[in-house]
Amino acid sequence: MSPTSKFRVNCIVCPMSCYVEVELDGEIRVTGYRCPRGKEWAVQEALSPKRVVVTVLKVKGGDLPVVSVKTDPVPRDKVREVIRELSKVELVPPLRVGQVVAEVDGVKVYVTREVRGGQQTF
Ligand code: SF4
Repeated sequence: MSPTSKFRVNCIVCPMSCYVEVELDGEIRVTGYRCPRGKEWAVQEALSPKRVVVTVLKVKGGDLPVVSVKTDPVPRDKVREVIRELSKVELVPPLRVGQVVAEVDGVKVYVTREVRGGQQTF
């Protein structure tokens, strides 16, 4: 018989912030969730937690010096590595919202703000 692990998390999928418990002892038991999305998120959080990285990247020759970006979900233990790699990236405009501008270990990075070429406005 395998030992029981119990994870307790506040679900962050919506503002209800349900207190969800995940018990792992050969099978997975989940309690406290109010919807399937929360159950799925809590199980993933217990087994293989991931985070979306939100940051800014440098822009050369744009109307803004930096642009906001976000990643696909990244395994939590890889977040620092992804941020370190992204700190080396410099983009050239034009940049469109949703454009994939980098990929780090298979994790895609998307622009979340438009940047045009030209002078910086400040
Ligand atoms: S379990 Fe469902 S209802 Fe509760 S916080 Fe998560 S997403 Fe929202």
